[in-house]
Amino acid sequence: MSALTPEQAAVQRTFAAFCDREVVPAAARDADGVFPLDLFKKVGELGFFGMRYPPSLGGSGADTLSLCLAAEELARGWLSLAAGSMMQALMGTWLVYRSGNAALHERLLKPALRGEKLGTICMTEPDAGSDLKAISTRAVRDGDSYTLNGKKTWITNASNADFFTVFARTGSTLSTFVVEAKTPGLVVGRPIGKMGVRSSPTSEVFFEDVRVPASQRVGEEGQGSDYLAEILPQIRTVTGALALGVARAAFDAARLYSTQRKQFGKPIGEFQAVKLKLADMATEIFASTQVVHEAARLADVSPSPGAAAMCKSFASESALRVCDDAARVLASYGYSTDYPVERYLRDVRFTLIGGGTPEILKLAIAKEFQ
Ligand SMILES: Cc1cc2nc3c(=O)[nH]c(=O)nc-3n(C[C@H](O)[C@H](O)[C@H](O)COP(=O)(O)OP(=O)(O)OC[C@H]3O[C@@H](n4cnc5c(N)ncnc54)[C@H](O)[C@@H]3O)c2cc1C
Repeated sequence: MSALTPEQAAVQRTFAAFCDREVVPAAARDADGVFPLDLFKKVGELGFFGMRYPPSLGGSGADTLSLCLAAEELARGWLSLAAGSMMQALMGTWLVYRSGNAALHERLLKPALRGEKLGTICMTEPDAGSDLKAISTRAVRDGDSYTLNGKKTWITNASNADFFTVFARTGSTLSTFVVEAKTPGLVVGRPIGKMGVRSSPTSEVFFEDVRVPASQRVGEEGQGSDYLAEILPQIRTVTGALALGVARAAFDAARLYSTQRKQFGKPIGEFQAVKLKLADMATEIFASTQVVHEAARLADVSPSPGAAAMCKSFASESALRVCDDAARVLASYGYSTDYPVERYLRDVRFTLIGGGTPEILKLAIAKEFQ
C-alpha cells in the first residue's frame, strides 16, 4: 500500500482538525433530526463539494482518494453531516456536471460547489430499490420538453434541495433529467423516520405532470442505465470511506473508555478479554483502510465495479462489527444516549444499505469472475 501524497495528507489533516474542532462537539444534535446547515456551509468553505470537479467550475480537481479521506474524517465526527455532504460532493452534482450543459453549470453546479444550492439524486422508487431497471417514473417527450410523472422515495436532502437528478423511463429505456425544486408539480413528501442518520433528511418526492425542458436531459435519451453504471461504483467507493470513518470513531471511543472504566480494581482495558476485542477492532480498521484507500486509488486509474462493490461490502460489514464490539466494551454505557457509541451502531447500518445492499454488492463482485 503506497503512502499518501503530500496533497492527500494535507486534505486528511485539514478535515481531521475540522472534525475534532467543530463536528464532534456538534454531533449530539443528531437526536434533533435537523440537518446541520451551519456545518454543511463550513464543509463547503473547506472545498469539499468541489473536490472532484475542475477548477474552471470552482472545484479543485482532487482525486477520489482525497475525497474519501475527507469523507472518512467527516463521518468520524457525524455520519448525518458526512452523508449529506457527500450527496452534494458527488451524487447530487455529478450528473449535472456530466450533462455538459453550460447553463446548468452556471445556474446550479457552480452555486452547489460553493454550498449555496443543494442537489440530490433520485433513483429509488417504492417498487424499484435494488432493481433499478424497474423504475416506473415516466418522462414523455412533448416538443422541446418532457413531462414527468411518478414517485421516488428515500431521497436524501430532498426537503432542502434546490434541484433533483431524476432517473425516469423514456419508452423502454431509462433517461436522466435535472429538475429544479420550484418546478410546478414537484412535491417533496413526508420525511421518513429512521433508525440512524436522523439529521440526514430522507423523503419521498412526487412528480405530477412536471414539465422539464429537453435541455435539462443529461446526455442522450436512453443513456440513463449508462449513468447508473457510472455513478453506482463511485457511490459504493465513497460509502466505504464513510463506514470506515464511523468504525474509527467507535474504536477510539471504546479504547478511551477501556482506560477510564474500572472494575475489579483496575481499568477494564487491562482484562485480556477486552484487549482481544480492541485488537480485533484495530485489525478490522487496518484491513478496511487498505481496501477503501486502494479502491479509491483504482477508481481514478482503472475503475472497476467489482472493486467498488468490495470496498463498500467489506468496509460496511467490518464497521458494523467494530461498532457492535465498541458497544460491548461500553456495556450499559454503549446502550446509553449519553455516549456516542449507540449512535455509531445505529448510523453505520445506513452504510450497509445506501447505494446497494450487501447481497447486491456480492452479485456485482461475482460478475467480475463469471
Ligand atoms: C438512509 C438512506 C438514504 C438513501 N438515500 C437515497 C437517495 O438519496 N437516493 C436514492 O435514489 N436512494 C436512496 N436510498 C435508497 C437505497 O439506495 C435503497 O434502499 C437500496 O438500494 C435498497 O433498496 P430497497 O431498500 O428497496 O431494498 P430491496 O431491493 O427491496 O431489497 C430487500 C432485500 O432483498 C434483497 N434482494 C433484492 N434483490 C435481490 C437479488 N436479486 N438477489 C439477492 N437478494 C436480493 C436485498 O439484498 C435486501 O436484503 C437511501 C436509503 C437509505 C436507507
